[in-house]
Amino acid sequence: MNNKTRIGIFAGSFDPLTNGHFDLIKRSSKIFDQVIVLIAVNTSKTALFTALERFALIEAVIKDIANVKVDVLEDDLVANYFKKVNGTAMIRGLRNSQDYEYESNIDIINKKQNDELDTVLLYADNQYRYLSSSLIKEIATFHGDISEMVPEEVEQAMKVKYNYPK
Ligand code: ADP
Repeated sequence: MNNKTRIGIFAGSFDPLTNGHFDLIKRSSKIFDQVIVLIAVNTSKTALFTALERFALIEAVIKDIANVKVDVLEDDLVANYFKKVNGTAMIRGLRNSQDYEYESNIDIINKKQNDELDTVLLYADNQYRYLSSSLIKEIATFHGDISEMVPEEVEQAMKVKYNYPK
């Protein structure tokens, strides 16, 4: 029997964290001993929230789940971080076939960096399958209702960013 602590690393941009992400965090916290939500700075996306702002928001959202913590990945590959913290598996979400194609490429790239790096893919919950951070930003640009799409803390922060009328 292997008594090693099973650490799942859920890496993503989380710009911002959505209810879909949060659902995945809760579900994976039941599968792994510890889950690390890793804010990876995506070089191909212009961010709305700074890494620090995202860190504070996610910390507030996950505060009641004992075995989940947040970290920021700066100037490094996810594969190196995985090795450094002795990770068991990466966690990613699958909403549709586009995600599948994208995730399978990432898996190949990760494996080229570290052949022990495996990814656990969890299906997005049906009620959140349509959700993406970019969709939420688009709705918020026009001051739309995002209350069912993001946790309360994120909704408040989005309203400030996008100057919602009081
Ligand atoms: P990235 O830029 O790395 O794709 P995201 O923050 O967009 O970062 O997504 C991080 C992970 O969360 C990805 O695996 C993505 O498929 C998954 N994800 C995104 N939206 C949802 C959702 N609504 N439900 C479940 N998983 C999701």
